Amino acid sequence: MEIRQAAVVGAGVMGAGIAAHLANAGIPVRLLDIVPGAAAQAVARMLAAEPAPFMSASAARLVTPGDLAVDLHRLADADWIVEAIVEEPKAKCHLYEQLEAVRREGSVVSSNTSTIPLAYLTQGLPERFRRDFLITHFFNPPRYMRLLELVAGPATRAEAVEAVRAFADRRLGKGVVLAKDTPGFIANRIGGFWLVTAIREAIAHGLTVEEADAVMGAPLGIPKTGVFGLLDLVGLDLIPKVAASLGGLLPPEDRFRRGAASFPLVERMVAEGRTGRKGKGGFYRLRAENGTKIKEGVDLATGAYRPSERPKLESVAAAKAGGPQALLAHPDRTGRFAWAVMSETLAYAAELVPAVCDTVAGVDEAMRLGYNWRYGPFELIDRVGAGWIAERLRAEGRPVPPLLELGKPFYRVEAGRLEQLDTEGSYRPVERPAGVVRLADLKRTAEPLLRNGSAALWDIGDGVACFEFTSKMNALDADTLDLLARSIPLVAERLKAMVIHNEGENFSVGANLGLALFALNVGLWQELEGLVAKGQEVYRALKYAPFPVVGAPSGMALGGGCEILLHCTAIQAHAETYMGLVETGAGIVPAWGGCKELLLRHLADERRPKGPMPAISSAFEQIALAKVSRSAAEAREHRFLRSRDGITMNRDRLLADAKALALRLAADHRPPALPAEIRLPGPTAKVALGLVVDGFARLGKATPHDVTVASALADVLSGGETDITEPLSEADLLALERRGFMRLVRHPASIARIEHLLETGKPLRN
Ligand code: NAD
Repeated sequence: MEIRQAAVVGAGVMGAGIAAHLANAGIPVRLLDIVPGAAAQAVARMLAAEPAPFMSASAARLVTPGDLAVDLHRLADADWIVEAIVEEPKAKCHLYEQLEAVRREGSVVSSNTSTIPLAYLTQGLPERFRRDFLITHFFNPPRYMRLLELVAGPATRAEAVEAVRAFADRRLGKGVVLAKDTPGFIANRIGGFWLVTAIREAIAHGLTVEEADAVMGAPLGIPKTGVFGLLDLVGLDLIPKVAASLGGLLPPEDRFRRGAASFPLVERMVAEGRTGRKGKGGFYRLRAENGTKIKEGVDLATGAYRPSERPKLESVAAAKAGGPQALLAHPDRTGRFAWAVMSETLAYAAELVPAVCDTVAGVDEAMRLGYNWRYGPFELIDRVGAGWIAERLRAEGRPVPPLLELGKPFYRVEAGRLEQLDTEGSYRPVERPAGVVRLADLKRTAEPLLRNGSAALWDIGDGVACFEFTSKMNALDADTLDLLARSIPLVAERLKAMVIHNEGENFSVGANLGLALFALNVGLWQELEGLVAKGQEVYRALKYAPFPVVGAPSGMALGGGCEILLHCTAIQAHAETYMGLVETGAGIVPAWGGCKELLLRHLADERRPKGPMPAISSAFEQIALAKVSRSAAEAREHRFLRSRDGITMNRDRLLADAKALALRLAADHRPPALPAEIRLPGPTAKVALGLVVDGFARLGKATPHDVTVASALADVLSGGETDITEPLSEADLLALERRGFMRLVRHPASIARIEHLLETGKPLRN
């Protein structure tokens, strides 16, 4: 069966977000709610929400809101109906009966329940329904959280499961984990337990919320929101709800039930509307005082707010040097807290295999994708040492789960393949879904073709090379350019195509500004200009390489990271790619060919009115405002992606898709022709752009230095001292970029912007 149309019932937080994401996948979705008008309001709300649930305006048009009482019969169109109404078994069952009367033969119905087992939900429902029913548990927000837990019942048709699994993987981009039919499934069972244990132990050990979050965050590979910051994000009201729901469904001897305390403080805060970021503050809040915002934290003993301070903890410093074991072994109360929480959580995870999931890799995947942990519980155990944990539990007279008792690492690499421990104590391969290729897997056995401190070149098979950035935050520097320069002839000689890809959180945040600042401070002007020229030269060589180059970004591709993509033969972008030429934020103009390439794209756009001015204005607006596309779909609207470029929804499939595209292009690749004559208006265009900028300045929307930077940018994009009769070459445009860059980069206000950006990560509006 194929899923061509979908429907979602329940237009709350989850239902609306799921509908938006189904639309992001390009299929029409009907969104219904029991409250008249609620679905339409939910769509309107989502159009203004940040982070945006929709990837593009065209996706938003695919959602048709309606009212359940009026439009129920229209669900007959849907191939897949997702139920996302209140977490109330009776209400859900009643809705299923209504759906059963209207849905068409063979359509699939799934529930987004976070806690209720399928067996419980389908009690008393007819066989026809049970054959087509499963649980699809999305995480909030559905567009961004990559986990989808999928639970099938004994009666569920294999074909229905496969259709939803494949659709969720390829079209929705989810990491699908098959979970067993148990309360809370995998991630919330472990994650919910971890949260309540951490609240309890933070209070018991007398920690502040700041201390608890510092410990329960980065040192363990957990997002820096830690525990209390995360609770503020998801809403404090969730805790009593999840604890009650799970507590009611789990057997009395379960660690969750034994450990679930009631928290008078949390109950009081919820009753007072202090439910977190969506309410009147939570464990943290920002209070405005004389125009500045003061961060405050809750005193866990009294519930009152007090100024928040970032703690300096020895245990955290120990973990920095010695890894997570050093944190858990640290004797102070923060170390003891960490051990109390993580020993319970990790032991619980070990107890739950195979009850909640057949494999430890499945559990790890669920925690990585559902809670954004860098390491799943078993990966974390391996980092700490299974034997060490078991030993300490034993010493404390606490039970040791059988999986830990095995005393073996949960993962090992055997003949280049990653293997995982099973419940019998033997190893079996960690299976990747067909078509998933990870650079990390490949790197376990392969040696790079080339490597230096900032990049590496890998042979990924079938004649394709992968150029990987490896520097911190994938910032680009002279070494990156060097290796790229060396890679081009090597690939030309030995291989068919190149992919530029890495598995970092961000493709690249752009040129290494720290190094640039250093060069500025010591007056190395020539070196800096040399670096600019070198980037231009290497990127140009990439553009005209005798083989196709496919850029495969995910996450941020900013500044120089965006520019390299603009020089690729084609781009295969992850749907969550955020591209932009953001150099003006640092007080400079793009000078690795970014101005030139973006301008050429706009000039080549046939949908545009004739003459260069509309193209110049578009490129100017994009660069001057440092516009960043908030999705690959939007990058297409911004002309960063062209019609032949592809989008991959599932990040794990990005490399394979990029490689396939590279091979398709290699079949008949010719380097691009030099651009047809570039004719630009010169000073007249610069004057016109200047008027626009002056207008902004008068309205207070452009700062004095914005005007200076915009003027330099206008100079580049209008062609400098040229006029429309004089043809320009790419080299001419590159020379203008260099000139604009070198003028700006010495400006004290630009230097201040660079310093500020490096210190705070945010642009300075000077
Ligand atoms: P919500 O309260 O925000 O929204 C529920 C919506 O369903 C409301 O708009 C309500 O009017 C509507 N509704 C109630 N009964 C209905 C009925 N009989 N027919 C049609 N519409 C009806 O809830 P939510 O947070 O979006 O949760 C929905 C489901 O998703 C629950 O099962 C929940 O456990 C699950 N879930 C929630 C989260 C989360 O973080 N909020 C995460 C994963 C799963």
